Amino acid sequence: MDSSRGGFGLPCSAAKEGRPQVSRRCPHCRKAFEPSTGKQRYCGRKCYRAVYGVVNRKKIRKRKTAYRAANRDRIHKKQAAYYAANREAINKRHAAYYAANRGGILKRRAAYYVANRERIAKRDAGRYAAKKMERKRLAQTGPAR
Ligand SMILES: [Zn+2]
Repeated sequence: MDSSRGGFGLPCSAAKEGRPQVSRRCPHCRKAFEPSTGKQRYCGRKCYRAVYGVVNRKKIRKRKTAYRAANRDRIHKKQAAYYAANREAINKRHAAYYAANRGGILKRRAAYYVANRERIAKRDAGRYAAKKMERKRLAQTGPAR
């Protein structure tokens, strides 16, 4: 047989094995995979997203904040409606979570408070002042309609 005349110079065995020469290693999970396009770097959506989220954390947060600011009313309404529709299920889940994780939650909360004591005190003072001003305003102008 004359193998030099076969097709486009691709030995049959290589074509059948799915072109092993372009196999890559996923930089996230380190598994070998065969990309379906030349640009594919990760083995799948899961790994891509995992890496994307870490690498672009700041960008994502910025975008999210901007989105929230632009859609504040709509988001609040949707959340309120969701909560109203699922109140019991949500409360049950929260209660179950709290019961199961009470020790960890309390510990974390206490640690957070210790670490942020000054900031919290400042925030509370600010809130208190704002409430006081609001009360004053109400006393002067009467309740908002
Ligand atoms: Zn992977």
